[in-house]
Amino acid sequence: MNPFAYTRVANPQAAIQAIAQHNTKFIAGGTNLIDLMKENVEQPNRLIDINRLELKQIIDREGGLRLGALAKNSDTANHRLVRDRYPLVTQAILAGASAQLRNAATNGGNLMQRTRCYYFYDLAMPCNKREPGSGCGALEGFSRIHAIFGNSRQCIATHPSDMCVALAALDAVVQVEGPQGTRTIPFADFHRLSGETPNIDTNLKRDELITAIDLPAASSVFADHSYYLKVRDRASYAFALVSVAAGLEIRDGVIRESRMAMGGVAHKPWRATKAEAVLKGQRPEERIFRSAAEAEMQGATGTEHNRFKIELGRRAIVRALTIAANSGRTA
Ligand SMILES: Cc1cc2nc3c(=O)[nH]c(=O)nc-3n(C[C@H](O)[C@H](O)[C@H](O)COP(=O)(O)OP(=O)(O)OC[C@H]3O[C@@H](n4cnc5c(N)ncnc54)[C@H](O)[C@@H]3O)c2cc1C
Ligand code: SF4
Repeated sequence: MNPFAYTRVANPQAAIQAIAQHNTKFIAGGTNLIDLMKENVEQPNRLIDINRLELKQIIDREGGLRLGALAKNSDTANHRLVRDRYPLVTQAILAGASAQLRNAATNGGNLMQRTRCYYFYDLAMPCNKREPGSGCGALEGFSRIHAIFGNSRQCIATHPSDMCVALAALDAVVQVEGPQGTRTIPFADFHRLSGETPNIDTNLKRDELITAIDLPAASSVFADHSYYLKVRDRASYAFALVSVAAGLEIRDGVIRESRMAMGGVAHKPWRATKAEAVLKGQRPEERIFRSAAEAEMQGATGTEHNRFKIELGRRAIVRALTIAANSGRTA
């Protein structure tokens, strides 16, 4: 690991001032960044420890919730209000990593975690995300865990987070602070597709700090019928091959609204708007769920190694919707 300077800051203004220096990174739980530094994938000159910032609270906000950027993943998942209003978020967080990691990992860090593409971690291989212009090891290599939606010729990596899939489905909003003040980023615009610049994962600027994630009150209507399904190679400690976050608002036996997103399939959490359009106004029946899955997965394209994800995606959508429809209370 390269030598680096370490500074601890006490307030967001000091953090923003400190991050302006060249090749500087925030460190929160350190569960992703330290691994990347040990592998020399990331080589910051300076780390700004933000763990002392007052950004750990989870508070009610006009019927919605504000999740502090420095709240731990485990505290977020187990918070009473999160469990009551957004069980999808609880399920998604608890499907990820391990209890020890979730105790250390923060909400802001979860959004910013980097891909698990094997070639990104292997300095002997070309990787446009790690070293722009060097090529993509996965395109001609082994691409079993890679993306089937929204790919470019530059990079076919997937975003690894589970929590982010639920946040995308529930229309979360990211609160950000920078030298120009505060701004909000709708979750759908926070992460980017790989395009021509796969080295840039998100639309957060280099000198900005995530302060919180807001969950809108309107998305709590999906609490009664929601489910996070994660399909992976092992039952724990494994990233999603395909995951589905599904929330249904069912009234008088009809789906009024739905929210769906997929993980493990794209460079960002993939909002399943085509499936949502099929579900609206329909009865929650398997036939409809199959049509929704078909509509969403039609746009997917696979490589020889990951083509299986297309059928897996269809089945995962049907299963997640079936469990969501049959769970909870029916109004
Ligand atoms: C073995 C293992 C298994 C895992 N399995 C899963 C899994 O199945 N599902 C899953 O979703 N995740 C999984 N993870 C990833 C884990 O959830 C992330 O490492 C964690 O959420 C990152 O949070 P952190 O606070 O530790 O971030 P850090 O490692 O401290 O930081 C990560 C990045 O975020 C930036 N950052 C942190 N906070 C802020 C902020 N407030 N504003 C701006 N930038 C910020 C840092 O600068 C850094 O670039 C796994 C990790 C490991 C090591
Ligand atoms: S898929 Fe992306 S992260 Fe993986 S090797 Fe290619 S450019 Fe790098």
